[in-house]
Amino acid sequence: MISDNMKIIDGINHSQNLIESVKELILKSERLNKRKPSIAVILIGENSASEIYVKNKIKTAENIGIISKKILYNSAITEKELLNKIKELNQQKDIDGILVQLPLPMHISEDKVILSIDPKKDVDGFHPINLGNLFLGNNNGMIPCTPLGCIYMLKKELGPLNGLNATIVGRSNIVGKPLQSLLLKENCTTTITHSKTRNLSEFTLKADILIAAIGMTEFIDNSYVKDKATVIDVGINRKKINDKIKILGDVNFNDVINKVNLITPVPGGVGPMTIACLMYNTVKASFLRNNHEFKEIIFDE
Ligand code: NDP
Repeated sequence: MISDNMKIIDGINHSQNLIESVKELILKSERLNKRKPSIAVILIGENSASEIYVKNKIKTAENIGIISKKILYNSAITEKELLNKIKELNQQKDIDGILVQLPLPMHISEDKVILSIDPKKDVDGFHPINLGNLFLGNNNGMIPCTPLGCIYMLKKELGPLNGLNATIVGRSNIVGKPLQSLLLKENCTTTITHSKTRNLSEFTLKADILIAAIGMTEFIDNSYVKDKATVIDVGINRKKINDKIKILGDVNFNDVINKVNLITPVPGGVGPMTIACLMYNTVKASFLRNNHEFKEIIFDE
């Protein structure tokens, strides 16, 4: 009998493996560029979740030899001031990656900020040029970190994804849509669903790979899951239980575990992969923007 533990996709372990490969790339980049790869992370305002994300990103970068520059602004910063700062970072030769932590205060346009980042330094992969390349089936640009982390784990766990039915619940520009492009490139038959989808379970029940990126606590129960499906839970939802904040996914883990082939837990699934992929993108940027050949390791199998 397969135990529940054997069904868990260990995102921490996968992220550590990727980080080990990134460390080797960092050494190579350092030899070629005569300096360490570097990332500038901009955080605006006081949002406790964003502060934790930024802290974890900076800590991981420093631990593995990526130079990080943390830039903090209070929410009074104007859009123009922020855009000027990004322009300055775009021109700085020793900065390989720029990340502006989202969400932004209401008076600053997310679109304008994303557009202002040099696509070659856009380690979040949200610039339309990077998303456009991905849409065209080209993996050479910057690929959004969370979808990239999902694909990495799926390929490591399942091998070639050729011909599998993949259904994504959620069509955001940062998760659902880029993930669809990546799954298509891997020859999956993809379906993307959203809040206006009628009879959602009709689509999810066809999925060999089911990805939940909804932002609704434990929304996906076993009535949505096909027998022996592989489930990737992208959700990060904070819920107060007995006066403690608990992080829960978009999938009701206990309800689906008997049915699934494999599943990512929350926490410890997609979250750590997102950070590892940010490190990967930063070192990739340090090669590409300095015109060094970069050998892709995530898709090369
Ligand atoms: P968005 O809010 O941008 O998108 C949510 C999507 O879910 C939308 O497309 C929405 O549809 C869809 N949706 C909402 N309700 C339903 C429903 N009842 N049935 C079907 N679809 C529905 O969220 P994000 O993509 O940014 O994030 C999704 C989740 O992933 C969140 O919990 C977030 O915290 C987490 N996340 C985790 C990351 C990680 O590193 N692990 C990174 C990024 C996000 P519509 O378009 O019609 O509104």
